[in-house]
Amino acid sequence: MSYKAEYIWIDGTEPTAKLRSKTKVLADGAEPPIWGFDGSSTNQATGDASDCVLKPVFTCPDPIRGGDSVLVLCEVLLPDMTPHPSNSRALLTPVAERFAEQDSWFGIEQEYTFFKDGRPYGFPVGGFPGPQGPYYCGIGADEVVGRDIVEAHLDACIEAGLKISGINAEVMPGQWEFQIGPAGPLEVSDHLWMARYLLYRIAEDYGVAATLDPKPAKGDWNGAGAHTNFSTAAMREGYDPIVTACEALAERAAEHIKGYGSGIEQRLTGHHETAPWSEFSYGVSNRGASVRIPWQVAIDKKGYIEDRRPNANIDPYVVTRLMVDTCCSALEK
Ligand code: ADP
Ligand code: MN
Ligand code: MN
Ligand code: MN
Ligand code: MN
Repeated sequence: MSYKAEYIWIDGTEPTAKLRSKTKVLADGAEPPIWGFDGSSTNQATGDASDCVLKPVFTCPDPIRGGDSVLVLCEVLLPDMTPHPSNSRALLTPVAERFAEQDSWFGIEQEYTFFKDGRPYGFPVGGFPGPQGPYYCGIGADEVVGRDIVEAHLDACIEAGLKISGINAEVMPGQWEFQIGPAGPLEVSDHLWMARYLLYRIAEDYGVAATLDPKPAKGDWNGAGAHTNFSTAAMREGYDPIVTACEALAERAAEHIKGYGSGIEQRLTGHHETAPWSEFSYGVSNRGASVRIPWQVAIDKKGYIEDRRPNANIDPYVVTRLMVDTCCSALEK
């Protein structure tokens, strides 16, 4: 007998990479091997030197196909087995290793928007739904749309063994969120990419597209973010390290904004629960700050911080690398 392995990788689409996948049938008992693909069809190579290499880095059960089927997340390599320029995971690995002793944890809140027939799912033809207010964590057919897909996705993530920690309906109709974490930088990122794969794939069966557009509806509608919650062992034990991390983020704010997703200026306007992209701020309970210290953390005098700036369309390998590098370097001193 044989089993199916779905190889999943991140392509070279600019400015925001997409997922690609294809199936390999393997003999029972065989480990998913290194494989290849046509990089000239994914913005990762030219036609005259088109071969790119897929190196499996994270495998889990495939809840869609079931049985012995697996999902295989891969890094993209060049034929000489060095990382492809689009391979941001390879840049995270040494940074994560260098600061491993500080035991960084991340919880990423992935917001996303369903689209059907070219407009946000639930938006009427040629118009808009009623203004924002009742939709966030809403219940009932008049408040939310797409719950059947969201529930199927949650079940699939749990079945796959991903570290999913919750879901909620968001402020704009057709918009939802799931959270991955807490987990270390590589694990949270691998699991987030895998959860995105499952979301796209499951929504496909409903004829709906799940998108990570940071500003899916122009006008008075919330954008879509990927709030990134972060702590180190020291931050989980005391308040001074929390302030040190916030001050370190202030110093390297511009560099972080560059790595926090394409189109961030459209989302971080200073309205709709955001701080302006060009100004850094942090504060307790403040959803209008760049970085929020949750109220419970301020009371307990230990815990974690929430970087509210990352866009929904982030590459988590980039965001977690920046946060570990900036905060852990400062905390090391
Ligand atoms: P919000 O109130 O901003 O909507 P959520 O409940 O959606 O927050 O997400 C919070 C995330 O923070 C979760 O993924 C959770 O696992 C994560 N988290 C909790 N504690 C920590 C911690 N100490 N370090 C990092 N992440 C954490
Ligand atoms: Mn072919
Ligand atoms: Mn949330
Ligand atoms: Mn949210
Ligand atoms: Mn949040």
